[in-house]
Amino acid sequence: MSNSKSPGERLYAIVEQGLCIGCGLCQAVAGVERLRVTKTLSGYLQPVVEGELDDEIVDCIYRVCPGTRIEGLPRSLLEADTRHDNVWGPWRRIVRAWAGDPEIRFEGSTGGVLTALANYLLASKRVDFVLHVKASTTEPSFGEATLSFDESDVFEAAGSRYGPAAPLVDIKAALARNRPFAFIAKPCDVAALRNYARQDERVDRLVRYMLVMVCGGYGTPQGTNDFFRRVGIDPAQVTALRYRGRGCPGPTRVETGDEAREFHYIDYWGEDETTWALPFRCKICPDGIGEAADIAASDTWIGGGPNRVDSVDDPGTNALIARTRAGEELIAAAAEAGALTLEYDIVPDIMSVYQPHQVNKKYAVWARHQGLADAGRIVPRTEGLRIEQLARDLPDESNDFQRQGTQKRIEIGKATEPTPVASDN
Ligand SMILES: Cc1cc2nc3c(=O)[nH]c(=O)nc-3n(C[C@H](O)[C@H](O)[C@H](O)COP(=O)(O)OP(=O)(O)OC[C@H]3O[C@@H](n4cnc5c(N)ncnc54)[C@H](O)[C@@H]3O)c2cc1C
Ligand code: SF4
Ligand code: SF4
Repeated sequence: MSNSKSPGERLYAIVEQGLCIGCGLCQAVAGVERLRVTKTLSGYLQPVVEGELDDEIVDCIYRVCPGTRIEGLPRSLLEADTRHDNVWGPWRRIVRAWAGDPEIRFEGSTGGVLTALANYLLASKRVDFVLHVKASTTEPSFGEATLSFDESDVFEAAGSRYGPAAPLVDIKAALARNRPFAFIAKPCDVAALRNYARQDERVDRLVRYMLVMVCGGYGTPQGTNDFFRRVGIDPAQVTALRYRGRGCPGPTRVETGDEAREFHYIDYWGEDETTWALPFRCKICPDGIGEAADIAASDTWIGGGPNRVDSVDDPGTNALIARTRAGEELIAAAAEAGALTLEYDIVPDIMSVYQPHQVNKKYAVWARHQGLADAGRIVPRTEGLRIEQLARDLPDESNDFQRQGTQKRIEIGKATEPTPVASDN
């Protein structure tokens, strides 16, 4: 595909139209000598062109970028007896669980299941390493890609990173090791890796497990700075930020040099969904529930968020959705080995009680994509996510409301980002 825009302009259109989540995959595809995914003046991680780009490379980026393409589970991973829920997608088992080791349950974001599964995968030698995200060593609110080879590496990366993170920036180096590994990330990152699997056969051969957290969206750099200012902290003085974990949700801990202050999850995110400061891409996300993963892990707060009273001594309980046979088998084996404690099985309707915001978005998103089309914007290509079917269940007025809401956002500039300029330029 080519048009009147230059290759660089076409790449930047993804960013400018608010579709980039900063996953890092375009850097891996193009090579760091051509483009770098880095912090830009907007505060986000975004691609910045550094060398010659041609249309062929940009065509490839459009095929793999999770801003432009998001698909459900590959058909080859759907079994005849896999169950399907219109909202929650393919599932084989949904179970409440936590890490068998109390220290991991405590340290983890919710009940530590992703950390426990990563450890089990390494200990059982099913994988050689885990590609996931730990706290950035340079930007206190960001996450950064890391390879974990043992329990202590995995432990260091426990906890949700709500700021920008680019887990796929070095995916080619991970694949070049030619050893089996697991990938733990957000649903859009897994969508990106599944897209990339169509370009690089090593993905399906080497990435043995893809695990995600159910994701309502990540925190905008602006929203995080606003939080710091609300609590009387100068963003420029922050040296470390731990969003949650050490209980459920555990404290939001902000360090400024030698001083540390702790806040509640609600102080960061606000009281409910209406107060979340999210990037535009997250508002039109067709898959926050990790449909392309082997396992998706979530919180189990009724209504979608914690309250200040119950969260004081909540030890943390995840819900685990096994979508593939490999995911289902992994949960059973990890439980058998004591790495996971399984409480009881649940069904998709219970997930909807825990995650009303995911249900709302899944129904609303198709009309939002129509709003993008109305404005001549790039519409992410979707497949296997049932979003049009779900929208048809809604009254026309609801779809019109969502569609017009997106048009309005575009009109007033809330769906537009500036052309990326590296902040270190
Ligand atoms: C941006 C974001 C939005 C979320 N929204 C929801 C939601 O709407 N509903 C819900 O139920 N749960 C949500 N969560 C998930 C929840 O916070 C927990 O991560 C999840 O329940 C897993 O808990 P755990 O105790 O097993 O995690 P842990 O055992 O602490 O493991 C977390 C794992 O996730 C990896 N990780 C952390 N942050 C990132 C990141 N930014 N990108 C890639 N990998 C990362 C870590 O490397 C680690 O391996 C969100 C998490 C994130 C990061
Ligand atoms: S979402 Fe990922 S692949 Fe797409 S432009 Fe952003 S960093 Fe690049
Ligand atoms: S809401 Fe969707 S686009 Fe946003 S971070 Fe989560 S999975 Fe990615």
